[in-house]
Amino acid sequence: MATRKEHNKRPGRSSSQLCRPTTRARIYARDKHRCVWCQRKVGGALRATLDHVIPRAVGGSNRYWNLVTACPGCNFFRRHTPPADFAARFGIEAPAVALRVLAAVGAPLPELAR
Ligand SMILES: [Zn+2]
Repeated sequence: MATRKEHNKRPGRSSSQLCRPTTRARIYARDKHRCVWCQRKVGGALRATLDHVIPRAVGGSNRYWNLVTACPGCNFFRRHTPPADFAARFGIEAPAVALRVLAAVGAPLPELAR
């Protein structure tokens, strides 16, 4: 049986398989069912998705503290963009995003604090 680390490294895992449904629900609840980037309320018609704060492409993990709630639009447009670059590109105030991520994951994002 694969360890959790190996399990999460498997290629082709979709975002719906990132973590157990209970963990997914906990992350959405922790983030108050709002997209951490644009603050839109998610759930119902606007499906909630999980987004990696530090993108997987640059070594971000699938751990609880690297996953935040995102609306499908932000998740799609962000892709592998670092948080600060995404905030700048879409006119989101980086410090505000940093505070929301801090509140969500309980750890500061050094790259947003600059
Ligand atoms: Zn959003």
